[in-house]
Amino acid sequence: MTPALPANGHKQAQHIDARRRHHILVFVSYITSLVMFFYGVRSLNQDSLLLPLILFATGGCFLLNVLLYHLSQQLNRACIIEALLVGTFVLSLVYQGGHNNTALYWVFPFPAILFGLLGVRHALASNALLLLVLGIMLFTPDLILAEYKEAESSRFLASLVIVIIVCWINDHYRERSHAAMEQLQQSKELQANTDPLTGLANRRFLDSSLIPALEQQSDELLPLAVIMCDLDHFKQLNDQYGHDVGDEVLKAVATVFKQNIRQQDIACRFGGEEFLLILPHTNTTDAHLVAEKIRLQLSKERLNAAAPDYQLTASLGVATCNKTTAFYDAVKMADQQLYQAKHQGRNQVCG
Ligand code: GH3
Ligand code: MG
Ligand code: MG
Repeated sequence: MTPALPANGHKQAQHIDARRRHHILVFVSYITSLVMFFYGVRSLNQDSLLLPLILFATGGCFLLNVLLYHLSQQLNRACIIEALLVGTFVLSLVYQGGHNNTALYWVFPFPAILFGLLGVRHALASNALLLLVLGIMLFTPDLILAEYKEAESSRFLASLVIVIIVCWINDHYRERSHAAMEQLQQSKELQANTDPLTGLANRRFLDSSLIPALEQQSDELLPLAVIMCDLDHFKQLNDQYGHDVGDEVLKAVATVFKQNIRQQDIACRFGGEEFLLILPHTNTTDAHLVAEKIRLQLSKERLNAAAPDYQLTASLGVATCNKTTAFYDAVKMADQQLYQAKHQGRNQVCG
């Protein structure tokens, strides 16, 4: 089994991205509602009450959305609502025309805001939709209250297209470069957590990734069995046939482990020729059966030409981790059982 647990880098990147969206959401909500209330009050002396109504209603909705977000912490939902508010506000302002038909100026910040809130794909789709509806509204003056000059409308739409495309390019490459960095980080983490000879998890993985993960979700994985396995008389094999043959045998042993454990189990190279298997949701009886199966299969490995006089065998110790036994205590117990197996003549399972 290769170590699959360390998703720390990925989680961290997701966390940072969520903070980014959080800040955009909070900033846009407060600043937009402030601006809207300010201009809402200023536009109260106009003949029509439509503009102050739009400004107060949208400002109120932005404020309500951010307050609900503070209470619920549902970032995705708040961002979607915010995007819908942005769209509704832009369309209703362009429809009404704003103060002295200045509505179009207020549209420009919103493509960037949509990219910040929704991510590239959804932002591009919603901006395209917004652009389409704005295009229809501006080129069908009968549909709207405001009166924009034709030249003004076409230049506005052209510059809006440029803003949207620049935001898109910017966000697309920002996402891609983050994904590439994350992938690099993950592959580095994977390399640092993998024993290069056997492809199994290494001791570093155990200490820096597995133990913290087990501490976080210890109860969910119980009963958790640990099997400590040490190859018998391995020094003899090295001395007689050389280190390279020893290395090949270690690889073959790792293959036997991989073939005999489940997807959720972890095989770790604990030391030179010592391995630790970690089996979540496994009681002592079942762990014993797994250990016995592995012992039997190892003893059947044929090294033939590579080491004709060496019979590969292993000694194994089994222990389980329950609510009262901490993980490292279970490992210590499995180690004691392993010594017992060695003491009783090797090529056996104890525990
Ligand atoms: P026992 O049955 O008591 O475990 O005897 P042993 O010979 O297996 O144990 P010992 O601890 O005396 O020797 C372990 C040997 O494992 C010594 C070392 O040369 C060998 N070893 C450790 N790491 C590697 C490795 O990466 N490659 C090879 N080829 N051998 C290794
Ligand atoms: Mg040994
Ligand atoms: Mg040893």
